[in-house]
Amino acid sequence: MSFSSYDSVKEQIREAIDIVELVSRYVPLRRQGANYVGRCPWHDDSRPSLQVNPQRQSYKCWVCNVGGDIFSFIMQVEKVDFREALDILAEKAGIRLPDKRDGVRLDGFLKKDRQNEKSGQNENVEDGRSGINDDPAYVSKKTLYQAMQWACDRYHHALLNLEEALPARKYLEDRGITRASIKQFQIGYAPLERDWWINQLKGDPKRIGILEVLGVLTRRQEEEGGEDRSRRSNQPYDRFRGRVLFPIRDTQDRTVAFGGRVLPNAPFASRAKYINSPETPLFSKHRLLYGLDIARLTMSKTRRALVMEGYTDCIIAHQYGFSDAVAVLGTALGAEHVRILKRFSDKIYLILDGDEAGRKRANEVLELFVAQGADMSVLTLPGGEDPAEYLESQGAEGFTLLLEHESLDALEHAFVAGTRGIDLNNDIVGGTAALDRLLAVIAKAPAMLGQIDEQRILRLEKTIQRLSQRFGIDEGQVRRRLKQIRSNEQSRTQSRTHTRSFEGDTFGAEPVVERGSVPDSRHGIDESVWNDPRQWPDGLERELIELWLADPTTHYAFWEHIDTDWFRSPITRAISRKSNEMFDREKLPTFENLLTSFDDVRMKNFLVDLDESGRAKRMVPPAPTVDAEGNTLEHEAIEQPYTEETKERLVKEIIASFDRRRDDHRHRLDIGKLKGDSLSKEEKIDTLANLLERQKKKHEKK
Ligand SMILES: [Zn+2]
Repeated sequence: MSFSSYDSVKEQIREAIDIVELVSRYVPLRRQGANYVGRCPWHDDSRPSLQVNPQRQSYKCWVCNVGGDIFSFIMQVEKVDFREALDILAEKAGIRLPDKRDGVRLDGFLKKDRQNEKSGQNENVEDGRSGINDDPAYVSKKTLYQAMQWACDRYHHALLNLEEALPARKYLEDRGITRASIKQFQIGYAPLERDWWINQLKGDPKRIGILEVLGVLTRRQEEEGGEDRSRRSNQPYDRFRGRVLFPIRDTQDRTVAFGGRVLPNAPFASRAKYINSPETPLFSKHRLLYGLDIARLTMSKTRRALVMEGYTDCIIAHQYGFSDAVAVLGTALGAEHVRILKRFSDKIYLILDGDEAGRKRANEVLELFVAQGADMSVLTLPGGEDPAEYLESQGAEGFTLLLEHESLDALEHAFVAGTRGIDLNNDIVGGTAALDRLLAVIAKAPAMLGQIDEQRILRLEKTIQRLSQRFGIDEGQVRRRLKQIRSNEQSRTQSRTHTRSFEGDTFGAEPVVERGSVPDSRHGIDESVWNDPRQWPDGLERELIELWLADPTTHYAFWEHIDTDWFRSPITRAISRKSNEMFDREKLPTFENLLTSFDDVRMKNFLVDLDESGRAKRMVPPAPTVDAEGNTLEHEAIEQPYTEETKERLVKEIIASFDRRRDDHRHRLDIGKLKGDSLSKEEKIDTLANLLERQKKKHEKK
């Protein structure tokens, strides 16, 4: 999708959905003056603190300092990223996102001989709306989902009915997986016959291409030996053949991938025990969990998630009544997983098979715990048993007891793993080194998108208190060590991003950040900027943006006078750049347009913040009036637009301030040059003269 069509889709959605209506689906709202108010969903709100402004189509909670538009509201309330929020809102608005966005082209998968394009008569792999007539190689996402479900059904059917699937059924039985589970989880079997799919698809090249895109078919040579490859080396074949298949579904119950387990005594000796579908247009393993489609309903009730390491462990757990169990897909539990689980649960238990796995994961889990603000615990099963084995020997009660008494929260678990073999009472050096290692993990944990600062700080405070207790080291000292580790980390990153030539400059107190540090404003600002108050806009820059938001036409006056690079904060610089971009396209950079153009939750929050603070300054109570009985009536303040005179005065003042800023900017540049050795003697003298001239002017003005 091109930039402009992306913007226009966002704008269409903004026009179609009213924020008051949207918010009130989550929070009851009532009118208060020109606004609506309701109880904030993000903090324990006894009085209605959430304000919704129907004119500006924005919301704000001052307690949480959270605000934005319809997009960031959905991002924050549903805990989804911008892409998903866009999908949800597009669907609500009945707007179809451009096709090219989600479909794929089969180029490279389709063979040249596409002559017999018969539509599948028995399987509806094609839905007719995918634009097959105008672009034969194009396949919509809907078609891909249908094809995947069809493949899943064929595999399931094969497991239940084929003679050759007997060992597969036997394997599942031996693992204790019931017939009911086989149906519920739609477990399947991929037949060994090399041309099985080609026959099922009746050789249709388009449908073969689709299954190749979906990773069901592959052309990659397998190391299986003894097979005649030369004849049909280029014929695609089943990636999973001879395996028991566990379909992986997304939270909308759509099959998107398979996990395949090799059978004991399988004919191909050197094969991996488990393989998963490759990353496809439908599947990203970092975002999906096995069994979540079934578990999420229970999770919403128990508010708990049990994360296992294997598919069969997850299924057995369900059989024992732990229907809030899911499994990772051969990867470690990651930030994306936690974000998704937090939508359904408050507490995440990671169930690990043995001590070794537990030790290896300790720091990863601690980082997730700190960064994601997730309540996480780790349960290491005794005796190296896996969850299925443990459940079979100890039953559901035994497992529940273990969960309740033997699981350690992430910090405790990391402490135990990190201090193993260290005598904390006597080995001071070893103890502090272990503490520093834990603090380093905590220091580098990134802030979660849209996370509320207050909660983060509280969480960190608690963590420090507990570390101080466990290590027997004074709380203040733990805090100082953390600060030290952080500032070491920061100076490392700063020396990368800050311009060298400004170092040691006595004139400019503020750090000057290199231009290139704003990546693409579409995706918002670099994480580090939001975490570093020194890079936030100062009073002057805030005032300017407030004025722009109050009246975007004032932008003209600044356009010629102010260079975007004179802004000291990357945040205001990005806004200024975006406004200029809109002007270039003859579009007014109004509050609404700016808000819509940024996808970053914090940028939206910042704009709403400035819009509100600017409006507060323009709130003036009308003169009191006297009613028929002679009583004086005071009136509520209402927003007064700036008069032309006021606007003119503000523009002049701000431009004058920026002129001084420009001089400072040049001053710092010159000093940097003088200190370096890039200038010739003559140039140095010239530069020095300029510098003195500016300094003289500055004093004359005073
Ligand atoms: Zn709040």
